[in-house]
Amino acid sequence: MWMLEPSAFAGKLLSALRLPLGSLWKSLVPLLCWLRAAFGLPGTERRQQLQVQREPGEPTEGEEGDIPAATTPTSVNYHFTRQCNYKCGFCFHTAKTSFVLPLQEAKRGLLLLKEAGMEKINFSGGEPFIHDRGEYLGKLVRFCKEELQLPSVSIVSNGSLIRERWFQSYGEFLDILAISCDSFDESVNVLIGRGQAKKNHVENLQKLRAWCRDYRVAFKINSVINRFNVDEDMNEEIKALNPVRWKVFQCLLIEGENSGEDALREAGRFVISDEEFEGFLERHKGVSCLVPESNQKMKDSYLILDEYMRFLNCRNGRKEPSKSILDVGVEEAIKFSGFDEKMFLKRGGKYVWSKADLKLDW
Ligand code: SF4
Repeated sequence: MWMLEPSAFAGKLLSALRLPLGSLWKSLVPLLCWLRAAFGLPGTERRQQLQVQREPGEPTEGEEGDIPAATTPTSVNYHFTRQCNYKCGFCFHTAKTSFVLPLQEAKRGLLLLKEAGMEKINFSGGEPFIHDRGEYLGKLVRFCKEELQLPSVSIVSNGSLIRERWFQSYGEFLDILAISCDSFDESVNVLIGRGQAKKNHVENLQKLRAWCRDYRVAFKINSVINRFNVDEDMNEEIKALNPVRWKVFQCLLIEGENSGEDALREAGRFVISDEEFEGFLERHKGVSCLVPESNQKMKDSYLILDEYMRFLNCRNGRKEPSKSILDVGVEEAIKFSGFDEKMFLKRGGKYVWSKADLKLDW
């Protein structure tokens, strides 16, 4: 009969217990997340979150086996659908699938992001109001504000499918609505592909501006500067609409989306040079809310989640997906996001993004 030293016996006992304890711990983590969300417990520091998700016995940061500081998903762009009713020639998130996650799965992913440090969520597409006539989007907006209590919830839309009753149901939960508008000349919008037969994109923009004022949602405009609008003077119209921000992007080529063999668009004819982009900015330097984004600034400075909740890495000029956060968690997936946090801060990615803090004179 074999005998063990007391210390060796203790070691054997610990290793026998280690696996079941680890499994038990893993099964407790979702319960802890749920409790925190259900009872509105305040968010904890990033370091504490890492410790909660770490198994007992694993080293902490700074200890042996040093774990590099993980990227925090402070601001996330969730492109939950690729479907759209417009056909912009330079679109760089095209309708390659018609997939949309079930609502409960999308909520689970958003909760994971909140647990990992998300402060701002932006819903985008495709056209985010196209799925379930905006109800799916409304439910996510409400969930993020009411249950996750995110400081900022925003949407980027082409604006064509938004109805006033959406503002009545969900407006109070939304901080910022950004509407894409590249020209105040309707014929240019038609040339770009941003328009539908009978609807006037510019008239619609004015209606949305008024609803944002009525329902207390901060109003923003996004414009993509390209070959067809680069010479336009938009000073007067933008000042009259008075958005909180006017984001001005330089038209960008992404392989597999709007460039290359497997792309659904060929945006080469829309591209402008850096000098032309600078010329546009110079013409509009009197607009105080203008936020310029050259190709250089845009590159790698956005955390993009696709319809499967995979981070899209644009470092090689095309969108390469990570694994889904729903399968491997945020910390693991974000390692493959290609996200450049320094560039995010340099381009002013963190700004006053909660309508409560904007102190708007509605
Ligand atoms: S509105 Fe946006 S998503 Fe739709 S085609 Fe145009 S750029 Fe693409």
